[in-house]
Amino acid sequence: MQSLHISPGELPPACEELRAEVREFIAKNLSDYPAARRAQNWTGRDREFSRKLGERGWIGMTWPKRFGGGERSPLERYVVLEELLAAGAPVSAHWVADRQSGPLLIRYAPDTLAPQIVPRIVRGEVSFCIGMSEPDSGSDLASIRTRATRNGDGWVINGSKLWTSGAHLADYMIALVRTSDRTEARHSGMSQFLIDMKTPGIIVRPIVNQLGNAGFNEVFFDDVQLPAENLIGTEGNGWKQVVTELGFERAGPERYLSSTQLLLEMLDAADPDNPHHAIALGRAVAQYGTLRQMSLGVALMVANGEDPGLAASIVKDQGGITEQAMPNIAHDLFGGRTEPGSTLAEVMDYLTLATPSFSLRGGTREILRGIISRGLGLR
Ligand SMILES: Cc1cc2nc3c(=O)[nH]c(=O)nc-3n(C[C@H](O)[C@H](O)[C@H](O)COP(=O)(O)OP(=O)(O)OC[C@H]3O[C@@H](n4cnc5c(N)ncnc54)[C@H](O)[C@@H]3O)c2cc1C
Repeated sequence: MQSLHISPGELPPACEELRAEVREFIAKNLSDYPAARRAQNWTGRDREFSRKLGERGWIGMTWPKRFGGGERSPLERYVVLEELLAAGAPVSAHWVADRQSGPLLIRYAPDTLAPQIVPRIVRGEVSFCIGMSEPDSGSDLASIRTRATRNGDGWVINGSKLWTSGAHLADYMIALVRTSDRTEARHSGMSQFLIDMKTPGIIVRPIVNQLGNAGFNEVFFDDVQLPAENLIGTEGNGWKQVVTELGFERAGPERYLSSTQLLLEMLDAADPDNPHHAIALGRAVAQYGTLRQMSLGVALMVANGEDPGLAASIVKDQGGITEQAMPNIAHDLFGGRTEPGSTLAEVMDYLTLATPSFSLRGGTREILRGIISRGLGLR
């Protein structure tokens, strides 16, 4: 059982100086970036913008210098993320790599893959996708069937992945696959591989979501040949590694800041003489303030070397509730009274259709609550 203790804490003054630098960079580089695109938040993509962030040293900020990283503190990284997310900057070209693929390669492949790949992540040159879910294996990830079989010096992969965000644009995937049969030990027999998406035998088929976008995909592997060194970490240790990766995936401030543009648009459009507006938006701002303290508390735990797993799951759960409530608040306050084509209408339309996915991606609400209750010793 883990104790639930999230201390709000303060950022050191150096972080606030960095915040000013990031704000200046955003003002310069995104001055004419439209609100409707800012609404996409961390799913917006612009490789050139990622390269510019790389030049500033704002990707791989905490990683060792020998991989090109900045060896800066997790709190400095937190401030950069917070500013980028609040501005709705187009970060998705490097987001997955910075958040989880890079740290995973550094931890589990420090002498083989990380020296080749991680410096390119730091420069904002390469994009990663996450190969976990499969048809019939989402929440129950241990039931995956995609398989890697030894062949000569390397491995051959057959099977498929599902809902793979950005696979059509990614250079690499980190895939969890089966390397031996499932035994009574449910989590045995899985391994992780680095897959170059240009390898022959990979077919990426887009899935169009209710927004009309093809953001995620089905990915098929038909005798995809990989070199031996593309095994990440130890054969059979995939489950332990993927749990570490999911920890990186769930711990950041993106798990409560995805609907920020809508809050900003509502604050702009609010009628100061309307008490209904003041009450609803005051409550939303207070929720953001509370989540920000909790999210900062998670960042402080990371900075102090504590395990943030339970606290991060709670922030993701509560953050998702707040993010998903924003379109309802907008419809309640402004529905039927926005100019068609106005910025508020565009952002509202986008988030109305996008927010249902927020409690699915990165692990569903029910699964997260199961993790929270286990962490609290309730089951
Ligand atoms: C926008 C988006 C982007 C995504 N991107 C990626 C990606 O890049 N890479 C990737 O690998 N995956 C990705 N996913 C997939 C995502 O991780 C899965 O959708 C999620 O884990 C749920 O799996 P599933 O869809 O198979 O649903 P299921 O696991 O079939 O779940 C269906 C429902 O049953 C509930 N349920 C299942 N098991 C339990 C249980 N034990 N207790 C209580 N309730 C339960 C779930 O909460 C859910 O409501 C993405 C999903 C979305 C929506």
